[in-house]
Amino acid sequence: MSIKHVQEYRDGELARELAAAIRSVTTGNIRLMEVCGTHTMSIFRHGIRTVLPEEITLLSGPGCPVCVTSQRDIDCFIALTSLENVIVATFGDLMRVPGTVSSLQKEKAKGCDVRIVYSVFDAVEIAAENPDKEVVFCAVGFETTTPTVAASILMAQQRNIPNFSVHSAHKTTPAALGALMETPGVAIDGFILPGHVSVITGTDGYRGVFEQYQVPSVITGFEPVDILTAVLMLAKQAAEGKPALENAYPRAVSQAGNTKAIAIMGQVFETCDATWRGIGEIPESGMALKPEFRSFDALERFDLTVPDVGEPKGCACGEILMGLKTPEQCPLYKRTCTPAHPVGPCMVSSEGSCAAYYRYN
Ligand code: SF4
Repeated sequence: MSIKHVQEYRDGELARELAAAIRSVTTGNIRLMEVCGTHTMSIFRHGIRTVLPEEITLLSGPGCPVCVTSQRDIDCFIALTSLENVIVATFGDLMRVPGTVSSLQKEKAKGCDVRIVYSVFDAVEIAAENPDKEVVFCAVGFETTTPTVAASILMAQQRNIPNFSVHSAHKTTPAALGALMETPGVAIDGFILPGHVSVITGTDGYRGVFEQYQVPSVITGFEPVDILTAVLMLAKQAAEGKPALENAYPRAVSQAGNTKAIAIMGQVFETCDATWRGIGEIPESGMALKPEFRSFDALERFDLTVPDVGEPKGCACGEILMGLKTPEQCPLYKRTCTPAHPVGPCMVSSEGSCAAYYRYN
């Protein structure tokens, strides 16, 4: 997208008009959840909360992939570093996430072979260059990243690189929305749905969860005009009492999504039950390697005995990810938990709510 094109979605005058329209249609209290961590950051960065009427509450949701990764998965990633002859490859966001007793960054500092990669294909190349080592990629993320990881496994298979494997902690977005709606105490009047995940899933990806729960839902992009447009559409739906699944990001998201990416994901992965931080197990919300690709599954390849000890004491990441609390309601926020000394992943990740509050609020 050109700079000129982006500027259209940062137009101050248009943003003011949208904010005025939101105020005029808002008739009562509305709680909207921005599902995606990138939306959370953008909302803070552009001061969007400050132009909304006080009746509208924006809640952060479970769309930060690092934040929703369970403590046990983080501990498993860290345990892999202590295995002989293993290189652990990861995106940078995971490095500082605290496990129960360590972090990938601390293990690297102790001399373990942990490498930050910018693409999963870099991890495949590391494996190709080190045939006498095992290379494990720590895979977290939603529908945006799973197809690429699937492609990396097909590539490793085609190039006969057997020393590459993946520890999959991938998750699916619609399943989490359904779980939220089933959680006692969760009150959401509308979902601002993630733009980049929806590029893959299309509008159709949310059809099932929308039809089941009838919660107003709008897919949108990450510029201020995108977000304000989605808020306006949700406020109108709420005022009219007519929930709908709408797409405010048609320049990137189609109804069917990226069918090639969906196909490649379905070729390599299948859904499985998965544990989400703070939320617990959600049926059919994870992505596991299909039986024919299990030789690339790190959990099959290595005998990891990692106890499930639960999340850090006092950390409210789980409640924050469900919109039940704000970071400021966590007793550790800004006291023992800061970006320099994070207790939970929401303070580490570039998409984490606690990091966003700390930086901007
Ligand atoms: S402030 Fe820190 S301890 Fe509290 S919820 Fe956020 S990450 Fe967890």
